[in-house]
Amino acid sequence: MTDDLLTVREVANKKNPDMDISAIPISCRGNYNRAMTGRSMRAAIKSHCQMCMGWQPSLVPGCTAPDCPLFPYRPGADRPRREPTAKQIEARKAGAARLVLARAAKCSTDDSAPGSIQN
Ligand code: SF4
Repeated sequence: MTDDLLTVREVANKKNPDMDISAIPISCRGNYNRAMTGRSMRAAIKSHCQMCMGWQPSLVPGCTAPDCPLFPYRPGADRPRREPTAKQIEARKAGAARLVLARAAKCSTDDSAPGSIQN
């Protein structure tokens, strides 16, 4: 049987059969199970930080351990936003222009649009 045919719970049990899932609050189990599938690094970081904080997710953003390698990636961390490149800015402008044209075309042909006058 391949991993694709196993349930999330079966995959988690297979990777760590000694893990007592009942020790994890219900609100954190879904994310933990997602992390244990090995398909989501975001879920793994989130779940690890929740475990580190005694399964109290509300404490994770206020973590006071800047030396931890996960500190910049923890949920709620202030991450500097990357400035968009010139190519991305041009793509956004082109997309916005296409959207305006599409809406204008739809308004001129769509009689069922709100505000249109029907005879
Ligand atoms: S970033 Fe903070 S909460 Fe997350 S694992 Fe490190 S010490 Fe724990």
